[in-house]
Parts: sequence; C-alpha cells; structure tokens
Amino acid sequence: MINEEVLIIKEVNYNENDKILHALSRTNGKIQLISRGCRKNNSHLVNASQLFAHSACSLTKSRDMYIITSAELIDNFYNLKNNIDAYYYANYIIELISYVAQENEYDYKIFDMTVSALHYLSCFTENFDKLTAAYELKLVSMLGYRPDFLHCLSCGATVFTDAKFSIKEGGVFCSKCVNYGNGINVTYSEILTLDKILKSKFENIGSIEVNTKLLNLIRNFLFYYIGKDNFTTLKLI
Ligand SMILES: [Zn+2]
Repeated sequence: MINEEVLIIKEVNYNENDKILHALSRTNGKIQLISRGCRKNNSHLVNASQLFAHSACSLTKSRDMYIITSAELIDNFYNLKNNIDAYYYANYIIELISYVAQENEYDYKIFDMTVSALHYLSCFTENFDKLTAAYELKLVSMLGYRPDFLHCLSCGATVFTDAKFSIKEGGVFCSKCVNYGNGINVTYSEILTLDKILKSKFENIGSIEVNTKLLNLIRNFLFYYIGKDNFTTLKLI
C-alpha cells in the first residue's frame, strides 16, 4: 500500500464503470491510476476521479499502473468551471506540467506550486495571465534555470539601469557589458518587475504591473529551457 497525493490531469473511461486516470503524484512524477467503479453514483471514488481533482490516495501497484483503493478529496478547484478564462489557463498549466513531469526529474515543490497555482486561478476573477506568468517563471527556476535579475551575468555588478536580458544565457547583462551577450532590451523598472514576479507569492501577483513584453519574455524563457513551445491549450488563451 502506497500513500500518495495526486492531481488528476486526464480521465479516460474504461470498462463499464471504471476510469483510467493520468495523474501527477507528489513524489513519483506522472503515474497512471485505475479507479474501479468510480462512474457509479454511490462510489466513494467519484470526486477524486475527475479532472483537476487533488486527493490523498491509497494505492496498490499493479504492473505499470496503480489501483486506487481509497481517496480523500483535498480540492477539485470547483470554481474553475465557472470562469472560462480561468479554466483555459488551468488547462494550459496542466498540459505544461504534464510535459515537464515526464521530461524531467520531478520535485515535490513543483507539485505543491502547481496545486497552489490552480487554487489561485480558481479564486481569482482576473489577472490569470500574470498568475500564469508567475507560475512559468517559478517553474523554470525550480527546474534549475533560476535567473538572477539583479546582477550582471558577465561582471557580477548589481544592475541598476536599463540592461539586456538574454534567454540563451539565462540572465541579465548590465549596460557596461551589453556587448557580452545578445539579449532583449529591458528597462530597469522591467528588471525589478521580473524579480518581483519571481519572488512574490501567487496571492500578491495581482498588484504587480506587468506588460505584454514581459509576459512573452517569461514564456519564451520557459519554452527555451523545456524545449517545447507548441502547447495545444495555449491556443485557447
Ligand atoms: Zn556587467
């Protein structure tokens, strides 16, 4: 018997009353679960066996899958169903993390952050784009590419003027060193904004002013390091 926290990222009907669930687990990356009888109304697994469900489960291993023996729902982010924008952003986050969990060594902090992002998407009424950008920037940082926005990559000096941000080199070049790298021009105020997004909690993200250029920069930065940019759900946002 294994106790594991899971987040359901895909549900597929199976047999008459069962589902095969694709899930992110807190400590084992992406796994597949069989939820037996969960399509019967009186099943104790109904709520935990739906897309977005975050549950604490007891599992038994069966070949390359897991069978859910019991599950306690922690959250199903119900409000996502009441706001189509929040729902689309949540689907993008799921597609993103589903790809990342498959391709990289998995960290429980990424699981916790994903659950937290879905929580705030389901409570916010706006700022979904900023929240998602914060998620993207924190995700790429947790994957090992945390940028230091406040120090020059080349000379190490504290940056306090306009500079260049290099996606390829993963950081900032100060005005004295711009020749060392090709990058995107960023104003000092934009640098401070990026740093703030990286260090802020999701619940405070709404108060930060973020322009489209920075939203794109963050997304391109993430996509560069995960090596993928054609996420299907992104087309809906
Ligand atoms: Zn420098």
